[in-house]
Amino acid sequence: MSWLQRRVYAWAPLLGAASRRSCLQSLGLDRSVLPAVSPQSRAPLSASGGNLRGSYFILGWSIDSRQRAAAAAVPTSYSSSSSSSPCCCRHFSSQSSRSSGRDKMSDPIPITGKKLRPRLQGRSSLQNAEPPDVHNKTGTLKQIHCSQSLPGTPLSLKSFPIHLPTSMDGKYKEIAEELFTRSLTESDMRTAPYEFPEESPIEQLEERRQRLERQISQDVRLEPEILLRAKQDFMKIDSATDLQHYKDQIDATTEKYPEEKENEIEQEFQRVRIFGEEKCGVPFTDLLDAAKCVVKSLFVREKYMALSLQSFGKTTKRFLEQLGDRQCQANMHDETLEAPISPDTTIHSPFAEEHPYENCDPSIMPEDTGFGCKMIDGVTHVYSESNIMDKTTELNLPRPDLQEFTADMNVLMALIINGPVKSFCYRRLQYLSSKFQMHVLLNEMKELAAQKKVPHRDFYNIRKVDTHIHASSCMNQKHLLRFIKRSMKKNPDEIIHVENGKGQTLKDVFESMNLTAYDLSVDTLDMHADRNTFHRFDKFNAKYNPIGESILREIFIKTDNYIEGKYFGHIIKEVMEDLEESKYQNAELRLSIYGRSRDEWDRLAKWAVKHKVYSNNVCWLVQVPRLFDVFRTKKQLNNFQDMLENIFIPVFEATINPRNHPELHLFLQHVVGFDSVDDESKPEHHIFNADSPLPVNWTEDDNPPYAYYLYYMYANMTVLNHLRKKRGFNTFVLRPHCGEAGPIHHLISGFMLSQNISHGLLLRKAPVLQYLYYLDQIGIAMSPLSNNSLFLSYHRNPLPEYLSRGLMVSLSTDDPLQFHFTKEPLMEEYSIAAQVWKLSSCDMCELARNSVLMSGFSYKVKGYWLGPHYQKESIEGNDIRRTNVPDIRVAYRHETLCEELNLITQALITAEQLENDSINMTPVSESR
Ligand SMILES: [Zn+2]
Repeated sequence: MSWLQRRVYAWAPLLGAASRRSCLQSLGLDRSVLPAVSPQSRAPLSASGGNLRGSYFILGWSIDSRQRAAAAAVPTSYSSSSSSSPCCCRHFSSQSSRSSGRDKMSDPIPITGKKLRPRLQGRSSLQNAEPPDVHNKTGTLKQIHCSQSLPGTPLSLKSFPIHLPTSMDGKYKEIAEELFTRSLTESDMRTAPYEFPEESPIEQLEERRQRLERQISQDVRLEPEILLRAKQDFMKIDSATDLQHYKDQIDATTEKYPEEKENEIEQEFQRVRIFGEEKCGVPFTDLLDAAKCVVKSLFVREKYMALSLQSFGKTTKRFLEQLGDRQCQANMHDETLEAPISPDTTIHSPFAEEHPYENCDPSIMPEDTGFGCKMIDGVTHVYSESNIMDKTTELNLPRPDLQEFTADMNVLMALIINGPVKSFCYRRLQYLSSKFQMHVLLNEMKELAAQKKVPHRDFYNIRKVDTHIHASSCMNQKHLLRFIKRSMKKNPDEIIHVENGKGQTLKDVFESMNLTAYDLSVDTLDMHADRNTFHRFDKFNAKYNPIGESILREIFIKTDNYIEGKYFGHIIKEVMEDLEESKYQNAELRLSIYGRSRDEWDRLAKWAVKHKVYSNNVCWLVQVPRLFDVFRTKKQLNNFQDMLENIFIPVFEATINPRNHPELHLFLQHVVGFDSVDDESKPEHHIFNADSPLPVNWTEDDNPPYAYYLYYMYANMTVLNHLRKKRGFNTFVLRPHCGEAGPIHHLISGFMLSQNISHGLLLRKAPVLQYLYYLDQIGIAMSPLSNNSLFLSYHRNPLPEYLSRGLMVSLSTDDPLQFHFTKEPLMEEYSIAAQVWKLSSCDMCELARNSVLMSGFSYKVKGYWLGPHYQKESIEGNDIRRTNVPDIRVAYRHETLCEELNLITQALITAEQLENDSINMTPVSESR
């Protein structure tokens, strides 16, 4: 047992009881079989367990100047030479006391006081010491270097395009481990350093302010003119200096965005501009440190997106490229349309006449490439010969490097708790909210007028996608009830289930329950979440069984049962028909692959093809429940690699030789990505770092942590994507459930590895991450009704706040079976959001447009739905005749994002210039 594990086990008794999460309950697994965390089972395993408390977990968060001076004077292995940045002091004040205890955990980080090159002398205390390079012990300037050179890892992966020293360099690993450990021990995360505590005055003030603002914006509707005039007076330019400044500002903007300037002429709307030297309200040194952290994080994400063929924000990429010498790799593979769509074409995308599952003849499928594949250390390797013994035949498919990933994760961990960065991001987010408030005050009428001008289009007939919905609960309870009753009437004598070797009909099943079709009602079905399920996952989970009977769930909402998922196929097809009938509603349904056995994929594909479960309004995501612990406890798996092989090897095989898996080949064409699901608030007993056991050695009953699951899914998906791209097949993206509950570092894994996420509730507590999600416009599929039943009451949901700040949020339903009442759950979701939060028609249309943008539908289909140029930035990409989103809103969002990115990148560029100046200004030594 490693030192770290002992440490974790020693603290396990303090963990809260495992809370149980919902979504995957729809998948047919009873969480009650999970091993409970009992204090006895995790009693301290070493005598030193008790002593760990004092030396490792009590961190000082402040330090007075005397201590600071003392810390600087006495070099310990932890205080990074003479760095005296306030954040360092705050977060590492007590670290020297820990040095004796950390022995085997990791290699000592080399600390060299040697300056590598002069940087910004005298400008900032943050730059006093050239920090040591955590990855490169020789101290050269290239940052991320890994010693191993694996085939398949492209060179670009190994370095940042520019050198960005921050005040925390050299300490990332310690900080990250400290944080991980805290997240293990603090199940409720009350005092986690990256958030503002719930009961803090800041949040209370925030809430009061928001209430007031909502009130004001309501009043504005009544008396817009008066308030508008007041605001305009307030904004009036009244001094000559201001005027001059304003002129300079305009000139600067023209230089930077000439193309936008053109648009501006056409798009007259009221803007709020900020003048002054320190426009962001913090000193330049703070801005610079924050900018470095933010840019560094964005480069990390760009790297992982590029490697896995996922996409990265176009605008963000453009700004990052100004900094580095090289082009960003992400989006190099942007799909371009073979035949451009005419701007005036219909909003409905044409679809093939033939049913895509009609022709399942292996002989017309792509040929066998004769490749072989094998999983090594949790990641699939592909060989050009089916005889995989010959290592020289390995294909050069890119894949991530584990050491590098954990190092990158540590960097991000450290960044999100850096005090100054945190308060910088918090300020920017506050600013974004306020700016939006002003935008609405000034332009609401114009936006509305623009919408009214568009003929025919309104909120009802714009495309919307339910970006997060589970197939097994995609029907509402009334629908399921009717379906059950109909099945009882139509096929009372069909054998639908086998129990103890004896076939049972639906009639038998209901008789054994003492029920007739007539007795059944929505109340007896009892599947709706209600006020008793809030923070009671056990109760919520029970709701997944119709009438509390798991057998009914087995019969009606499973793909893999005695009747081969016939009923489930039918009911999903009915849901699909409803969607098609509504014309403009689409859904991304999640189907499960558990990783228990190798034939799950083929069976799932056979189910889809046999019952022709397909609709142009639906695309599939495959969700993998994080249930290794359950299967391992039942001895269904030997180690974690078994699970990974069951999940990925069949897809590799179907990609290598589609003729051997004809159904799977067809089905995969309609799968757009992978999801990872489970109760995130379940305590994690491990930390994922470079010392974690490899999947093949993960044999204990405990579940691997969230990041571990995500990393290995990402790694295999990356190799798979490159293989599929080689073959001209569709590729996949990672879209996990992330940040619904539990520790905030899940959102870091999500940020690094996934295209977009579902939930993201916890971003409200992590300003740095929220700002990063904003800057790269990472999609967040939010489900406030689902949250309202489980985690966070509706009025506290951060969706309106995220939307006002310009995060890429969309509305989704999660589980209509549990949360919704009507035949159109997505409309219900929009309707409630609009009424509770007083969303304008423009807000609603923006949400709908976001949902299409972040969805997995093809570029071509999106071109019809949003406009042929939807991939272009700003208003060029918007077609109000299709989206009903006014250009004013799109332009506002784009300009605001550009301003934020500009602020960040300009800070770095200015610093670079200052540095060059300071080199030139070094006094020449006078010879005597
Ligand atoms: Zn879900």
